[in-house]
Amino acid sequence: MTQSSGHSGPQASGELPVDPEHDVAGSYAFEPDYIKALTDRIVSTTGQSVTTYAPATGQPLAVIPQSSEDDVRAAVARARKAQQAWAQTSLDDRAAKLLRLHDLVLDRQDEIMDIICSETGKARKHAFDEPLHIALTARYYARTAHKHLDPERRLGVIPGLTRAEVNHVPKGVVGIIAPWNYPFSLALCDGLPAILAGNAVVTKPDAQTMLTALLGAQLLEEAGFPRDIWTVVAGPGRQLGTPLIEGSDYVCFTGSTATGKVIAKQCADRLIGCSLELGGKNPILVLRDADIERAAEGAVRACFSNAGQLCVSTERMFVADQIYDRFVERFVAHVEAMKLDAGLGWGSDMGSLTGQDQIDAVSAHVDDAVAKGAHVLAGGKARPDLGPYFYEPTVLEGVSPDMACFGDETFGPVVSVYRFHDEADAVSRANEGQYGLNASVYSRDLKRARIIARHIKCGTVNINEAFGATFASIDAPMGGMRESGMGRRQGSEGIHRYTETQAVASQSVLRFSPQFGMDDQKYAKVMTASLRLMNKLGRA
Ligand code: NAD
Repeated sequence: MTQSSGHSGPQASGELPVDPEHDVAGSYAFEPDYIKALTDRIVSTTGQSVTTYAPATGQPLAVIPQSSEDDVRAAVARARKAQQAWAQTSLDDRAAKLLRLHDLVLDRQDEIMDIICSETGKARKHAFDEPLHIALTARYYARTAHKHLDPERRLGVIPGLTRAEVNHVPKGVVGIIAPWNYPFSLALCDGLPAILAGNAVVTKPDAQTMLTALLGAQLLEEAGFPRDIWTVVAGPGRQLGTPLIEGSDYVCFTGSTATGKVIAKQCADRLIGCSLELGGKNPILVLRDADIERAAEGAVRACFSNAGQLCVSTERMFVADQIYDRFVERFVAHVEAMKLDAGLGWGSDMGSLTGQDQIDAVSAHVDDAVAKGAHVLAGGKARPDLGPYFYEPTVLEGVSPDMACFGDETFGPVVSVYRFHDEADAVSRANEGQYGLNASVYSRDLKRARIIARHIKCGTVNINEAFGATFASIDAPMGGMRESGMGRRQGSEGIHRYTETQAVASQSVLRFSPQFGMDDQKYAKVMTASLRLMNKLGRA
């Protein structure tokens, strides 16, 4: 693994105004006015605040005003009022605003990436995935708005006389609770279809990444969305989650499986819907006919994008016996060539972890595995010389079920490599455990890989790619099976979750009761005969 130049300080890569007075090498210092314009968006009357720190350097980053439970209720009330007028606007108008957001996000990508890198410590190339994903999402939903939301004709019971259609009615206020790992993408991607469908959003981003989420809210307003359609509260999830769920008509949560279960119970008590995008222990299968170089390169992205702090990141790799040694040699060579770096510039292959909890969890998994007999093929240690939370990309071999990293999500840059002899066995090992989020299959035989994909119990399966093929195909639904979640983002599933389907049917000429002088018995006979006729005619 090559070393970086360490803390080289903010680089002139973006448009984010850097305070020239605040000359702390390696810190990410933004002008106070810039931060204030963002934090003023938080619904907060408490007078309390918390300081956030840049993970790559440990330096203070921003002072974030905190919301109380009453502030959350006020945010929901504002959203509910604004939603009533918003739902009356035309779909074309809402879609046009999304297209403006698309362009704004691409125009301002440097500013967005600077603020993401500052709050998360991730490498710039991993931050780039976020504006990219939001631009794709905005354009997809803007261009498909009518397809998803226009009233749909359905079959009426009496051909020609019963006209049935389905309306997609907005639910009202959608509460979004988001994590820190992809703070721009996950603050916005679920909310864009919600507001397009005529809802208002109240969002509670993670405490670590408030500035990024607030920049997203600012860009929405600049794109033309009314301010109260997207309100932001700040504070601990355990405190603010309950009033947010109590006030919302639907909840969209992204985060850990443990928190997802708490949220699901609270939503169940109110009989409101929720979608839960949760954790994973994602496998890659490298089949015997895989292109070894392509698989080794793809595996690096699969395992170490955002230092493995990615829900769809690979933590288990099953490699066919016939190519195991050659593949592992190439994979390890790629990993050892990775450049670790802090800073806002391009050129780093992996950045910092995002906090103390993360480095503690990653170290604990690696130390436990090594103590119980696993071999470290690459990495395996923290790098305090680069920053407080840097950890090397780590490849383990010989991991067994008694080790924590065998089945528990590490959510860090650690992958275990296993050999397999038989593809059916590899699939069944990939399906072990409680998770089912994402998988990859590498093979030159696409047909066989597709058949194998159908047997993998994961919500997304990428063939000859890490995770981007499914994640960036916004028309395809994304989400987890089993304990990796409930519901789907993206595609028609990702927007219809925010609408109630309402059936409207109008009836002409015939009514559903005896007429033309029939009695009830005669009516029953006529209806029975009509049903038989319809079946003969092949009608549904
Ligand atoms: P987390 O569950 O601790 O926190 C996520 C969010 O929930 C934060 O905003 C937090 O403040 C809030 N929260 C915490 N407790 C809450 C409660 N009781 N009520 C309401 N809100 C509460 O998760 P994390 O550690 O921040 O994120 C990492 C996890 O998220 C990993 O497991 C990862 O796999 C998962 N994740 C999943 C996806 C996906 O799309 N499936 C995407 C990103 C991350």
